[in-house]
Amino acid sequence: MKLFIVNAGSSSLKFQLIHAHKRFDTLYEGIVDGIGRASCFFEASAGKKHTHYKKRIPKHARALKEAINILFEFGVVDSLKEIDAVGHRVVHGGEKYSKATKLTKPVIQNIEALSEIAPLHNPANLEGIYAAKEYIKHAPHIAIFDTAFHQTLPEKAYRYAVPREWYTTYHIRKYGFHGTNHRYVAHQTYNHLGKNKGKIITCHLGNGSSISAIKDNVCIDTSMGFTPLEGIPMGTRSGSIDPALPLYMTEKLNIDTNKMDTLLNNKCGILALSEKSSDVRDIWAKAQKKNKKACFTLEKLAYDIALKIGSYAAALNGLDALSFTAGIGENAWYLRRDICSYLSHLGITLDSRKNRANSTAIHDKKSSVHVLVIKANEGKQMAREIAHYLQ
Ligand code: ADP
Repeated sequence: MKLFIVNAGSSSLKFQLIHAHKRFDTLYEGIVDGIGRASCFFEASAGKKHTHYKKRIPKHARALKEAINILFEFGVVDSLKEIDAVGHRVVHGGEKYSKATKLTKPVIQNIEALSEIAPLHNPANLEGIYAAKEYIKHAPHIAIFDTAFHQTLPEKAYRYAVPREWYTTYHIRKYGFHGTNHRYVAHQTYNHLGKNKGKIITCHLGNGSSISAIKDNVCIDTSMGFTPLEGIPMGTRSGSIDPALPLYMTEKLNIDTNKMDTLLNNKCGILALSEKSSDVRDIWAKAQKKNKKACFTLEKLAYDIALKIGSYAAALNGLDALSFTAGIGENAWYLRRDICSYLSHLGITLDSRKNRANSTAIHDKKSSVHVLVIKANEGKQMAREIAHYLQ
């Protein structure tokens, strides 16, 4: 069974063709980045075959056409009929969707309606859906929602201490995001533990970052909230701050709420702390030269992440495994070291050599908690869920 996976962002489109057999091998994958800009970057590979080029690609539909053209050029398939299903990443599924869902007309309408609470994400996801439905008509199109894995949160975790009407009328609650990768990493973590039960915390640290608490395969809390802005500091997002701050600063800076939204999403986090870059690789390079702002940025990040892990260890009332994933989680060994230095009271101790090597298991023999590094793989998880749905 061959599954085509589409992840349409605001200016990018990622795609994968996955062979949904035992190992879920990726047959073809790539990215189009900079859609709508003067010059757009296209990259695709299939085994040893690789291509990349730059050109103007105005819309998602065109980006998808390029991806399909190269799929044929590489000879991965002879006909689109070989594709058994198309999977779409959809960021916001509200309270309606907790598993893979066929993209029927009413489902698409619901996703359109949810754009009101996910204006940065759902419209872009829909572009990918509309385009793919045009090109691949014979196969079912299935949505995998970022929010789905977090639909198991208990009410005490998902409700905010605000008037009830905000929830009943305006749908204000914690939804949580990155759910597909949290689910994937939880699955890999349980595989490593050799059982399907246990208390684990998954730390997805990438451009956007979120942490989840999972008990016996069920997500019980997560750090992102009504929007992906809540939680720990991220590349350019502030994470949680005093809720009075945006009110106060909107007035002080004499700006409107849209501008404040842009500031909190695009000008805060690691970028604001370092006053230089949102990329941890740059911060680390500067920190090694003893740059004070860079050192402080890493110190603050490790502190806030450790606080969240500590609070989730309390929510779980114990901890069997702590897993790091995504660009920062998989690579920034110095951050993992600094985060874990706050967590020895939980019984966490690292093997510094394994940690530096980004090995899968980085705890030492004394540690009572398994500490793991797991490569993010949303595409594979989406394919698994689609294959399960089609069974
Ligand atoms: P996205 O959320 O866009 O999927 P990724 O998971 O790819 O993001 O993470 C991207 C971020 O990961 C980069 O901005 C950078 O801060 C960090 N990163 C990537 N590679 C490394 C590395 N080798 N060392 C430290 N940080 C890294």
